[in-house]
Amino acid sequence: MRLSGIQKLTLLDFPGRTAATVFTPGCNFRCPFCHNADLVRGMPEDAARQGGAGAPEAPARAPQAADAEAGTDSACPAGGAGGTDASDTGAAGAFPTYELADFFAFLDKRQGLLDGICITGGEPLLQPGLADFCARVRERGFAVKLDTNGSLPGRLRALVDAGLVDYVAMDVKNAPERYAETAGVANLDLTRIRESVAFLMEGRVACEFRTTVVDGLHTEDNLLGIARWLADAKAGQPVRTEAGNVADAAAGIERPAPAGTGGRNGQPARATAGTGAETEADPKRPACTAAGAEAGWPPWFLQGFIDGEGVLGGTGRFHAWEPDGLRRILPELQRIVPTAALRGID
Ligand code: SF4
Repeated sequence: MRLSGIQKLTLLDFPGRTAATVFTPGCNFRCPFCHNADLVRGMPEDAARQGGAGAPEAPARAPQAADAEAGTDSACPAGGAGGTDASDTGAAGAFPTYELADFFAFLDKRQGLLDGICITGGEPLLQPGLADFCARVRERGFAVKLDTNGSLPGRLRALVDAGLVDYVAMDVKNAPERYAETAGVANLDLTRIRESVAFLMEGRVACEFRTTVVDGLHTEDNLLGIARWLADAKAGQPVRTEAGNVADAAAGIERPAPAGTGGRNGQPARATAGTGAETEADPKRPACTAAGAEAGWPPWFLQGFIDGEGVLGGTGRFHAWEPDGLRRILPELQRIVPTAALRGID
């Protein structure tokens, strides 16, 4: 397990928690809009030692070649063996190192001040020691949030099954027909991405989907395509609410409420853990979003792209959507994915 950096406080990244964020080096994608270029392609040795900038370009490698999941999925990190590390991601340079000992010393000093740790990258699931790392964090009483690009569903599932993550945020890069282009990987096999989406839709861990919306990579049709994909993945999954099933209620089907919960179908609006929306319906949220959470939909956030220097595909090549354009299309997206919401676009 390697770390390349830390953000010692975030009030935004882990829903409902005061957290720190750690960054893992290496990624099997090459999203051209990525702001974490140094964590994806590495940097010259001397710059890495100083944590500086400037990185050689590295060719993208298809994840089916770059990750070892095809051959070693069963030996995923949660099993404590096998897997690949950041050296297996096509990175041409070195990565800065943030020592694990320093991280755990930091964590021990933050007892009672923080209650969560976000693990982001790069792609954290590439780290062979991730399961042990999560266990050590959770042993200290901190919840774990994992950010992932969804390309390693076997490892994701194993971590969840082992009870080592409390929240998962998965990127859904684009509609299927533009996924490879948006992930920066030619001939990307979407099977694993679909598998991760379907697994998270099962509601076994609190989660969210998120799409960074980039002018030049996403059209309205592409966003609608993502929405239809998520809806297809949701179809057929059990609806998980304590009170029953909003769809049941709509269909006039009555089921007894689980013991101790009171209420019947669609009453009260409280979802079980695993939907990412396990709090009572928030009156400040749009009605369709609250209804979606009741029906067991995880949130789907459309995030604004922040124009800036140092993106992987070249400075000035990508731009944010006009916020009004996103606001205009949002109701249509919410008709397909009721939890669709905008984040960080103003
Ligand atoms: S998956 Fe994330 S870290 Fe990897 S290249 Fe894409 S945006 Fe960057």
